[in-house]
Amino acid sequence: MDCSKLCPEWPCEQPSEFKNIWVVMEADENGIHEASLQMLTPAKKIQSKKPGEKIVAVLVGYNVKRFADIPIKHGADEVIVVDDPLLRTYYPRVYGQVVVDLAKKYKPAVILVSATMRGREMGPYIANTLRTGITADCTDFDVDEKTGDVLMIRPPFAAIMLAYIKTPFRRPQMGTARPNVFPVPPLDESRTGKIIEEKLENIIDPGMELVKYTPVKREEVLIEKAEIIVSVGKGIGSPDGVKLAERLAQLLGAVVAGSRKAVDAGFVPPDRQVGQTGKSVKPVLYIAIGISGAAQHMIGVREAGRIVAINIDPEAPIFKQADYGIVGDYRPIVEALIRELERLKREGPKALEELLREEEAVAS
Ligand SMILES: Cc1cc2nc3c(=O)[nH]c(=O)nc-3n(C[C@H](O)[C@H](O)[C@H](O)COP(=O)(O)OP(=O)(O)OC[C@H]3O[C@@H](n4cnc5c(N)ncnc54)[C@H](O)[C@@H]3O)c2cc1C
Repeated sequence: MDCSKLCPEWPCEQPSEFKNIWVVMEADENGIHEASLQMLTPAKKIQSKKPGEKIVAVLVGYNVKRFADIPIKHGADEVIVVDDPLLRTYYPRVYGQVVVDLAKKYKPAVILVSATMRGREMGPYIANTLRTGITADCTDFDVDEKTGDVLMIRPPFAAIMLAYIKTPFRRPQMGTARPNVFPVPPLDESRTGKIIEEKLENIIDPGMELVKYTPVKREEVLIEKAEIIVSVGKGIGSPDGVKLAERLAQLLGAVVAGSRKAVDAGFVPPDRQVGQTGKSVKPVLYIAIGISGAAQHMIGVREAGRIVAINIDPEAPIFKQADYGIVGDYRPIVEALIRELERLKREGPKALEELLREEEAVAS
């Protein structure tokens, strides 16, 4: 294919010259971020359809070499590390340029980046500098059997269908996925792989200066990390309803989140929105109160363990995906749950045993 006709200002590239699937890793002093390890899952899926391609993790930063074997234990075949004191401070352009320089040298066919704050900064920089395409917020990846191109799958705006997007002429093919859309591949301590150490060859002007660093104090658990979530929708109706949900969450050791309409109504802050334009969550238990179950919301809970839906409308779409559904006005239902949990708390393990006995009797 003569791609000079398509993009005359860009150098022509032959996709056949590019090989391997890269996953950009993020790390700090505590280790590699789970969100970047999660991207090894779609990398493995692509690899399964393109035998012979290696999964290569790219680790850039300062004092990060000590973490280089972690991606291998989660499924990477190789790791390229650039570890340099000049990378002590994260600057998007500087880190992005390191990946660009490596990509020019090694010519990967695919680069996957987690859509974290950093990934959202670096991904487009890398794609733009390499003059290639990037598909943001993919929910799945596949491979076109005829051409071998990677298919980046994501819901388009406002739609209940899926778009399959590919980059047929440019390389690398780049895609991002939000944290928690994919699980981290299981740890296999016995896995080994090659670790390639590269020198920092080129340090560009960051275009900004770090003036002050103040870590955000987080007293609350982030919704991405929460084990139990009580999520409210527009149906919660009022701030009083939210208080009821907060009490339920407190008793369960849960975090309160919400739908976009709940955010728009001011019931929950924007950083607690679940869904396509919010966050993806993976709690063991997700209790949805007054949430209809729109596709853009449910995409954020596809990694959730059990979904319990409370909705007044028996036809609400959420009941199609919930593991347990309670039809009715949420108020008496949530109040009853609160009463029961308070009793359990007051009366301790004996009350719990009694409750389990009652449940067993109902089940049999
Ligand atoms: C591009 C795009 C991106 C989007 N991204 C997101 C996103 O990230 N997250 C998201 O959530 N949405 C998102 N949306 C919006 C989404 O389409 C829905 O509009 C939204 O999820 C609906 O929120 P809801 O379920 O709270 O409200 P509604 O759809 O209005 O549902 C309210 C529900 O409450 C129930 N109800 C009412 N009263 C009671 C009561 N007393 N007791 C029990 N139940 C009651 C009703 O039966 C109803 O099912 C997006 C939309 C677009 C177009």
